[in-house]
Amino acid sequence: MIPNKFDYQKATTVEEAIEYLVEYGDEAKLLAGGHSLLPAMKLRLNNPVKLVDINRIPGLKYIREENAMLCLGAATTHYDIESSELVKSKIPMLCQVAASIGDLQVRNMGTIGGSLAHADPAADWPAGMLATEAIIVIQGPEGTKNVPAKDFFMGLYTTALAENEIITEIRIPIPEGNIGTAYAKCVQPASRFALVGCATIISKNNGLCDRVKLAFTGVSVNAFCDEAVEHALTGHAPDVDNITIAAEKAAINVDVLSDHFASENYRRHLAKVYAKKALMEAANNL
Ligand SMILES: Cc1cc2nc3c(=O)[nH]c(=O)nc-3n(C[C@H](O)[C@H](O)[C@H](O)COP(=O)(O)OP(=O)(O)OC[C@H]3O[C@@H](n4cnc5c(N)ncnc54)[C@H](O)[C@@H]3O)c2cc1C
Repeated sequence: MIPNKFDYQKATTVEEAIEYLVEYGDEAKLLAGGHSLLPAMKLRLNNPVKLVDINRIPGLKYIREENAMLCLGAATTHYDIESSELVKSKIPMLCQVAASIGDLQVRNMGTIGGSLAHADPAADWPAGMLATEAIIVIQGPEGTKNVPAKDFFMGLYTTALAENEIITEIRIPIPEGNIGTAYAKCVQPASRFALVGCATIISKNNGLCDRVKLAFTGVSVNAFCDEAVEHALTGHAPDVDNITIAAEKAAINVDVLSDHFASENYRRHLAKVYAKKALMEAANNL
């Protein structure tokens, strides 16, 4: 399939990319890994007149620790994150999220910034970002703003990003104390996207969970933190009985997707199963 005609432009700075976005408005699109945008263009679901390539902008691909935060440049690839010893040592669940995406070719090209901006309801990163309480750093013509992940995902393919803005960085607080993390994903076998993906971080103090974060992707129109599960386990020992009780609360008060891959009832069932899997794995990692 062949996309509509478009102009291709390499941006050399973030400011230059923003200038193109301002000049061309909704006719311009940023090009990162191209692994969501180009398929959409080939299907004529997206028909930008101007493609602004951000891959050559120096300083958008990095992974570093700064002020108790993991800082990821927006153009960092899934594979860079999957294989980062720093990420693995601080929040291993993020390496699991990255490693679960598509295949090696997709992970070598696709970027975390592109995935967050695209906000596919079945994408893996949104769950990881919500569970870690990540901050999305966004630059636009008016300057820079920091948007917490919980305020970023707003609906089906819809985010807090304006059309003349670019994600430059993702900042993830490094959790302290005795923590366990995990990502459990039910893979849609053809696309490799998540039928249901569950990211969790728990921390234990004096034998009890003093903090539980658990977020789903694939279940609803956008990723979300499941507060019912979080509350049910907080203050309790992370053992199989308590985890089973907490996981039963998964996706209870949520509008669950139903499509040709999985019915609403099946997805709701999977949410409970994968919440339990993720929590058990995280508990075993404490
Ligand atoms: C075969 C296949 C399997 C896949 N499997 C999975 C999977 O299992 N799980 C999963 O999560 N994803 C999967 N993906 C999607 C993949 O992860 C994409 O790489 C990702 O969703 C988009 O990242 P990208 O860098 O390719 O962005 P692009 O495709 O280049 O861009 C996507 C959108 O984001 C915008 N954008 C890009 N970068 C920025 C930025 N820095 N700031 C603002 N806007 C930006 C673009 O303008 C565009 O609208 C799969 C893709 C394919 C082709």
